[in-house]
Amino acid sequence: MTTVLQRIRSDRPVFSVEFMPPRDQADERRLWNAIRELEGYDPAFVSVTYGAGGSSRDRTIRTTGRVARETTLVSMAHLTAVGHSVAELRNVIGWYAALGIRNILALRGDPPGDPNGPWVAHPDGLNYADELVALVRELGDFCVGVAAFPYGHPQSADIDADTANLLRKFRAGADFAIAQLFFEPEDFLRLRDRVAAKGCESLLLPGVMPLTTPKILAKTVELSGAPVPARIAARLDPLVGDAAAFRAEGIDLVTEVCERLIAEGVPGLHFYTFNRAKATREVVGRLGLVPSRA
Ligand code: FAD
Repeated sequence: MTTVLQRIRSDRPVFSVEFMPPRDQADERRLWNAIRELEGYDPAFVSVTYGAGGSSRDRTIRTTGRVARETTLVSMAHLTAVGHSVAELRNVIGWYAALGIRNILALRGDPPGDPNGPWVAHPDGLNYADELVALVRELGDFCVGVAAFPYGHPQSADIDADTANLLRKFRAGADFAIAQLFFEPEDFLRLRDRVAAKGCESLLLPGVMPLTTPKILAKTVELSGAPVPARIAARLDPLVGDAAAFRAEGIDLVTEVCERLIAEGVPGLHFYTFNRAKATREVVGRLGLVPSRA
């Protein structure tokens, strides 16, 4: 079965897409429309995020399994340590294996309720993502990814401590990392430089989200932990009252960022889709990352 690492170690840049587990039936239909629309574009892999609660977690397992079973796509499941004992984590990893999933993104996760609150591990659980990487590795022949943070994780003491943590996750057995959202190509490239300066050659994928609406822009600020740079604000702020113009400029901006990253040799671009295909299709189409038959 194909791994994410095999797909991203390609002689040309690839793209991948991230979905969230559907909340209800309408959401499930929307998600599957998006998956089917993107299938013909040959993404390198499709990942499904892992929620905070039981039912959303069941939906992640179900959706990832269905992608593996019913599509031609390579499926990657996210997994977090939040609220799980080690025995439960072993059980979920066993489910993933039984569903034919070979790729896992191993994460600590955020504290439920307040994502910025203090982290409290399950009494019989794990403290940090590197421990989860080691557990997944111990339990099977998985390809394992981890999270990376261009501006540093908000709870890291400083950028050096953050780099040390990413290296710890690679040493624990991670095969590649996907970066949290960022605004400028240089923000990602500096992260790549920090890792390379430590002698680590593991692959890093930039996380990308087309800036289609002011709400998505605000979400990027929230997830990245960085304010909108003046250069980008100057292009988008005047268009806030004109949805079509904002969307067109936001797609232009993100396409330019991706072009620069490709020119800098990134192995792939990981798109956060919010379960919609259109904006991702537009950007990867403009970048020429799709097979000619799509
Ligand atoms: P870790 O690598 O464990 O780091 C967390 C913090 O602990 C960092 O500040 C780190 O420096 C510090 N730290 C680590 N090890 C040590 C140590 N030994 N001693 C002291 N400090 C240490 N969240 C979800 O809930 N579900 C998802 O599906 C999901 N998908 C994501 C996908 C991507 C691509 C990204 C970038 C993030 C995703 N997240 C998801 C969010 C992620 O769970 C949070 O950002 C979380 O706060 C950090 O997770 P981590 O795996 O990076 O944790």
